[in-house]
Amino acid sequence: MQIFVYKNIPIRLHISFLALVLLYIGYTGLKSGMFHMALISIMCILIFGSVLLHELGHALVARKLGYKTRHITLYPFGGIAALEMSQKNMADHPGDEFRIAIAGPAMNMVIAMFVLPLVFLKVPLCAELLIVNLAMGIFNLVPAFPMDGGRVLRSWITPRKGVQKATKIVLRVSFWFAWAFIVIGILNKLFMLPVIGILLLVTIRSESLRINNKTIGFLSRYF
Ligand SMILES: [Zn+2]
Repeated sequence: MQIFVYKNIPIRLHISFLALVLLYIGYTGLKSGMFHMALISIMCILIFGSVLLHELGHALVARKLGYKTRHITLYPFGGIAALEMSQKNMADHPGDEFRIAIAGPAMNMVIAMFVLPLVFLKVPLCAELLIVNLAMGIFNLVPAFPMDGGRVLRSWITPRKGVQKATKIVLRVSFWFAWAFIVIGILNKLFMLPVIGILLLVTIRSESLRINNKTIGFLSRYF
């Protein structure tokens, strides 16, 4: 579902995102009353804004470097900036890959910097917004595909080993992170972590297949 267009980039909401958010807000309203429902609604909008700005960070730096963004789509567990690689493939430009990848977490850090003074002024929900942005920025720098840190790592290895070898190395690192997330998540009953671990394994599998076919197509999607 398209919600608006910013600098020629269509911004979309996946229907599952909307359904989940509305269900959650409705559930909070029934359980804890209108005040909490309003609070949760505002928090959802703030998180939505943070994810959107993270993706716009990727998209706007990509645009400066000559890559078009087909769309930005927000899902319940994060967003995707779908870049176009028809004129220029990022695999041949590790410097571009690095700048585009780092722009997302950098945007979260900028938001955190703006929010920090408001936390000291005890403005409601700002402490939560700060934590969300710090967590989003730092977690995305874990050096595993499909997170931004995985791309940063590959962009460092590519100039020395070539993109194929660099991708294989990052895939191996990602594999260990995926299983670490699954095990740590289960042991500590943090059920978001195994979900992320499985997402990593799915990405690793599809990217390994592409590497064996010598095409690197996955590159076009930034989380
Ligand atoms: Zn990102």
